[in-house]
Amino acid sequence: MSDMNEQWLDLRSDTVTRPGAAMREAMAAAPLGDDVYGDDPSVNLLQEYAAGLFGFEAALFAPSGTQSNLLGLLVHCGRGDEYLVGQEAHTYRYEAGGAAVLGSIQPQPILNQADGSIALADIAAQIKPDDFHFARSKLLALENTIGGRVLGADYLERATALAHGCGLATHLDGARICNAAVKQGLSLRSAVTGFDSVSVCLSKGLGAPVGSLLCGSKPFIAQARRWRKMLGGGMRQAGGLAAAGLYALEHNVARLAEDHANAAWLAGELARLPGLTVSTPQTNIFYVDMAAELCARLNAALQAERIRVAMGPHLRLVTHLDAPRAELQRMLEVCAAHLRS
Ligand SMILES: *Cc1c(COP(=O)(O)O)cnc(C)c1O
Repeated sequence: MSDMNEQWLDLRSDTVTRPGAAMREAMAAAPLGDDVYGDDPSVNLLQEYAAGLFGFEAALFAPSGTQSNLLGLLVHCGRGDEYLVGQEAHTYRYEAGGAAVLGSIQPQPILNQADGSIALADIAAQIKPDDFHFARSKLLALENTIGGRVLGADYLERATALAHGCGLATHLDGARICNAAVKQGLSLRSAVTGFDSVSVCLSKGLGAPVGSLLCGSKPFIAQARRWRKMLGGGMRQAGGLAAAGLYALEHNVARLAEDHANAAWLAGELARLPGLTVSTPQTNIFYVDMAAELCARLNAALQAERIRVAMGPHLRLVTHLDAPRAELQRMLEVCAAHLRS
């Protein structure tokens, strides 16, 4: 293809994946209708399929993960309620404060442990008693994977049981729950047990161009549909996008293991180069620390070879279906040449 981006290896995120030929065919062939009337057969099919796959009564297709998390928060919590959430969580940090701005929902951020979990004692300590001085604690929101780290099934069972025991609902930001499930050898359904609602991104490692699914009970999804309309997320002939999502769920889940293997391989190779401290990836995301001056130089060298990585306090690398092993090998060679010179 003539697209300039085609020539780049982009490891900034798995959001950069573009639909391949088979997915595009599925999109082109999708029967369409007006989804705001509930008439788009492809959207309906995706929603029914996803609900079954994740073990919920119903599901709703939303334009983005940010919106589907927001819908979940808006249904679980009202004005003056609070949700307990990790300091590092996407809903708290990277969604522009939407729950507070649009829902008058107060976040209660809690420290994430090194493994990405929130300590059960910290959760318990932050659940407020019924007292008019406090916001009403209504929801525990967890994220899996979080920064590429997988939360164990044991932990999730105990955390959700703790929340439910105190009268809180539970929401999972499962943007990358398929990565977590594949890594643990769990079905998608068992990877989300204990949660009253789950959001799932189709546009990350699963490779769809757009979209997210919110799963929950029928009454929960009915309310979410109202909020989605209010937020401007009611899409009309969205079936082409839904068909991409359906294709992604049917074909691109098991192959995430390849992304995980590629991340493990690349991290292992980079760790042997001088000057780099490399985190051990659990799934498809890892981080590389180095001196700031070296970081800037290395990034420039990568850019010159049409390789993009995410720069922050450290390099972040994310493997995905548009980053085949041969391209990762090329990236490794650029790093090796630069660091050994
Ligand atoms: C990407 C992501 C989202 C939001 O998805 P968008 O489609 O980019 O809005 C939410 N949560 C997590 C953990 C994510 O990685």
